[in-house]
Amino acid sequence: MAQQIQSSIQELEDQHGAGTYHKRKLVIVRGQGARLWSEDDREYIDCVGGQGAANVGHQNPYVNRAIQEQSQKLVNCTELFYNDQRALLLERLARLTPPRISRFFFCNSGAEAIEGAFKFARLATGRTDIVATMRGYHGKSMGALSATWNKEYREPFEPLVPGFSHVPFDNLEKTCQAITEKTAAFIVELVQGESGVRPGSRDYFLEVEAQCRKTGTLLILDEVQTGFCRTGKMFALEHFGIEPDILCLAKSLGGGIPMGAIGISEAISTKLFKLAHTSTFGGNPLACAAANAAIQYMEDLQLARRAEELGQEFMAELRKVKSPKIREVRGMGLIVGIELKEKAGPYIQQLMEQGILALGAGPTVIRYLPPLVIERDDLRRVAAATAEVLR
Ligand SMILES: *Cc1c(COP(=O)(O)O)cnc(C)c1O
Repeated sequence: MAQQIQSSIQELEDQHGAGTYHKRKLVIVRGQGARLWSEDDREYIDCVGGQGAANVGHQNPYVNRAIQEQSQKLVNCTELFYNDQRALLLERLARLTPPRISRFFFCNSGAEAIEGAFKFARLATGRTDIVATMRGYHGKSMGALSATWNKEYREPFEPLVPGFSHVPFDNLEKTCQAITEKTAAFIVELVQGESGVRPGSRDYFLEVEAQCRKTGTLLILDEVQTGFCRTGKMFALEHFGIEPDILCLAKSLGGGIPMGAIGISEAISTKLFKLAHTSTFGGNPLACAAANAAIQYMEDLQLARRAEELGQEFMAELRKVKSPKIREVRGMGLIVGIELKEKAGPYIQQLMEQGILALGAGPTVIRYLPPLVIERDDLRRVAAATAEVLR
């Protein structure tokens, strides 16, 4: 019976979904913390973590309550009006981000946060050129895609937005050469996520920040994946002590509810005009209430510290794995990758058969993005299963 239901769900999705996703043959119907259950009631340890959207865990008690309560009051309220939940979230984000970031535009996804960031950068500088990094990932709408590096995603859609160029990530000389008085903005991830879990170096970010200031180029940090405690700090920029002019947030901001935000400096805000950028659902009370609850939970339960500690233990376990197939284990907090000397896909499949859901990141990297509430024992099981499949 369960099997029948499962296959009919898969059939419906396969038949009527647009067909742009790689799907695993697994119907997920329920979650709790860092566990997920399939239609046939099999339990999985979740190291996909909603691809970064589930930092506070599934069925988070704070977020659940906030959504329930807000749904009894007001779900929808455009930015034509003021709203209590929105005001609260603005104040909270301003407090948590560096002093330079004092204003926020709310949107609904990561790609939207990137799109808006580029528009703001053009308006604020009067310049058009954007420098991005090789292996960078910023989303797939036309502007965001122009900054994304992967040619498979980009080339079928050219011509993209003009004015974009790419420099090697973590290469100071090439990056500084590309950032000039003509550059509107430089956009970068602090840990490249989708392309293989690659943290950049401190010196690189500090020097690039200086070059941006020297040339009047705006520094855009894409913390869509690294934000909200993932790397062991509320935001990864805290590891490096850098201050962006624009900070892009999404994924775990809404505690699982779709939400994005663009943090900007006061100076940028003064260059914007009314209706320069808008979004019908941006800053809606349901998403804001969920975000307020998610952030409160992160602070009350010190999720950043937990990610830092568990991440170090998990990486230490993985580094103990003796396998000729492993090239490198790397990460920051609980964004962790194992680069293999061969394709990662078959091993991700084998982990799934053992009840562990992990992600890819480029062809040869197994990526782990568990909810930060994951139990130590679960992470140990993940490390043990990884050792077994890679043996
Ligand atoms: C996921 C991601 C995006 C795009 O976010 P979407 O919500 O999928 O549009 C942008 N930047 C980074 C670093 C991401 O990880």
